[in-house]
Amino acid sequence: MASRGVFAEFSHTYAALPERFYARVPPTAVAAPALVAFNDNLAGEIGVDRSQLSDAQLAAICAGNHVPAGALPLAMAYAGHQFGSFVPQLGDGRALLIGEVVDAQGQRRDLQWKGAGPTPFSRRGDGRAALGPVLREYLVSEAMHALALPTTRALSAVTTGERVLRDDGPLPGGVLVRVAASHIRIGTFEYFAARGDLDGVRALADHTIARHYPQLRDDPDRYFALFEAVAERQSSLVARWMQVGFIHGVMNTDNMTVSGETIDFGPCAFMDEYDPATVYSFIDRRGRYAYGNQPDILQWNLARLAETLLPLIDADEGRAIERATASLQGVPARFDRHWLAGFRRKLGLSVHEDVDRALVADLLAVMHAEAADFTNTYRALADVAADDVMLPDSFLAWTHRWRARLAREPGGIASCNATLQRANLAYIPRNHRIEESIEAAVQDGNFGPFHALHAVLATPFQSQPGHASYRTPPLPHERVQNTFCGT
Ligand code: AMP
Ligand code: MG
Repeated sequence: MASRGVFAEFSHTYAALPERFYARVPPTAVAAPALVAFNDNLAGEIGVDRSQLSDAQLAAICAGNHVPAGALPLAMAYAGHQFGSFVPQLGDGRALLIGEVVDAQGQRRDLQWKGAGPTPFSRRGDGRAALGPVLREYLVSEAMHALALPTTRALSAVTTGERVLRDDGPLPGGVLVRVAASHIRIGTFEYFAARGDLDGVRALADHTIARHYPQLRDDPDRYFALFEAVAERQSSLVARWMQVGFIHGVMNTDNMTVSGETIDFGPCAFMDEYDPATVYSFIDRRGRYAYGNQPDILQWNLARLAETLLPLIDADEGRAIERATASLQGVPARFDRHWLAGFRRKLGLSVHEDVDRALVADLLAVMHAEAADFTNTYRALADVAADDVMLPDSFLAWTHRWRARLAREPGGIASCNATLQRANLAYIPRNHRIEESIEAAVQDGNFGPFHALHAVLATPFQSQPGHASYRTPPLPHERVQNTFCGT
């Protein structure tokens, strides 16, 4: 807990790394910070104390106008593969680490401003964020958390009273305070590896192990074990994205954490109708980051991480490559274990049967052929099992097979209802709803739809009387073609 009058008890393990890991830079104040949202639950969890602060003081901290006591703002250096091409220097161009706190569970968490002004990594950017993407990240990252998926969190969103210039004209600005297990990315490893800075890679790997994988600290083979541990967490994460119909949209290596949390909610979205080719980003013309490609990109990104660790895995390069390659070849099987387990759960299956994989795959095939809504089809299964609801005729043959399979579950069909409700969410942050709430905020300064959507998404597995409309897929004219690019 923070002591009286202190915003948070900051400490700084990343700042203790060599100076070439970051640039110390203060935030740049904005004209008129005003609080849009503050996440009191999260604040409580991480020991952030606002009780001694007026709303204006709190907004000033959340906007970066006031640097809270004990903070040590810095921009982290990183590189990354963007759409397959290597960029040796990216870095925090519009984000600043405020400091680290230790939460109620003893976990160290980063607090970061996003949109708090230029840094040495800004390149041609202005260091700012538009309000729309700030609200999108707030909504989607908190929705992810409510789904119990590993994700960065949103502590606050403010408006700045300033405009930022973007491709389609001036837009109201915003600043987000993001909370993450850490902001270490695959691209952070690539930054040092690309410079031939093996000491840097080793220091980063040791820091990552201490922070995220402390059980590996004394392992004589710890760098290989680190790779496998990251591969495991990321495989589990991407499998869970698939199970909720989530498309990240920009799975560049700088947007993939080594902690296994989802990070960077730019052109991301939850699918409405099921189609593995779905992608929402207008910059992703070839569909590199389409829903169905995410498992392949997971492996591709992990290969980039493995490359950075080779000299640490074995002094003999041939041997290091051999081990890393073998481990990488195991990624699809690793992913598939998580994928199948999750999709079996969505069908209410607990005991294992060989027919399960086909049952899972065949439902997806019918959904694809019928352009069925991903979320609502799964959510209906509890009622289908109870014989209360029928799916369209095209699902009939599948439904018969599935009900026959459920009858072989230990408690029979009757026992599956609760499991099905728990495994199949009712409310996702549908893209047209997000756009609608952003539009109201940006065009009219009306934050009502944003707060209403946020409240509905807080309990996504529970049916909420009066909120049926949040479950409705978009009408043709409500359909969102592209989402914010994030910059
Ligand atoms: P993102 O697309 O948000 O993952 O960002 C990719 C890279 O571009 C990162 O290095 C960001 O810091 C940088 N960047 C994005 N937007 C801006 C901006 N408005 N000003 C400066 N840098 C930016
Ligand atoms: Mg990014």
